Amino acid sequence: MSLRPTTALLALLALLLTAGAASASPAAKVPTLVFPVLGESSYQDDFGDARGQGGHQGNDIMAPRNALALAAEAGTVKFHTTSSRAGCMLYLDGASGTQYLYIHLNNDLTEANDNRGTCVAGVAYAKGLRNGAKVAAGQPVGFVGDSGDANGINPHLHFEVHPSGGGAANPFPYLGKARRLLFSAQPGTTFTLALTGKVANAAGEELQLNVDQVRQWPGGRKVKQPGQRVPVVFPETALIEGLAGAAGLSPFPTLDLLTRGLPVTVWTEPATVTFAALAGTKGALAASRVVVKP
Ligand SMILES: [Zn+2]
Repeated sequence: MSLRPTTALLALLALLLTAGAASASPAAKVPTLVFPVLGESSYQDDFGDARGQGGHQGNDIMAPRNALALAAEAGTVKFHTTSSRAGCMLYLDGASGTQYLYIHLNNDLTEANDNRGTCVAGVAYAKGLRNGAKVAAGQPVGFVGDSGDANGINPHLHFEVHPSGGGAANPFPYLGKARRLLFSAQPGTTFTLALTGKVANAAGEELQLNVDQVRQWPGGRKVKQPGQRVPVVFPETALIEGLAGAAGLSPFPTLDLLTRGLPVTVWTEPATVTFAALAGTKGALAASRVVVKP
């Protein structure tokens, strides 16, 4: 489904004729995305690369088997289960008019490549997700896998972006600007995190962490998040533990004790799940305890 120059030209002409000069191009309608995979992943600009059936129409996001695939924006999901090449696949019709394709979702019942699962919720699609359901931005929609013609190769999400539901656009620039979520949980529920990493900066009432791993409760799910910079509010009531020379717990610890590069685990105060919390936005997470590792 490559957009040939002639098609593009016709589309552009049609736009100019019908919409007037002030109108934005179709690509401008793609909003800032939520990165469609939670946790550690890697991808490159492989859009248009030669593939067996023509040019590659998306980017392959390499991730651990069963990593959560997240809704890139709010919209409506459609399951597609009958393509031998795509395997377990999902369409997300975004509220912006952009359509996203999620291809090669999981079809295994164990951590091995057993191919014993089918394209159903709980295996390929998120638990409890229904075909035709409305989803919020960042909501889990599926699990990364190797179904279809990705069987036996490294699990990955083949992700496509179709502005205005038309031809495929290169996802690469959108992925580069996408917001990465720190964890995944139902909005409105209560969560606590353990953020493990190194102190990047500590001043005033804010601790900046370079996070390597996020563990969340309830559930205890552990996700690697290498390189994520996360700001955490450090209230007066927060404790610092395990710091040599600080005599254990200080009733009024100061952030000055946390020098750059110090390995720590930060436990957050229980809070309500919001999009800002999921994204680790400044001011959304507060520390209850900072444990310095020897
Ligand atoms: Zn691909």
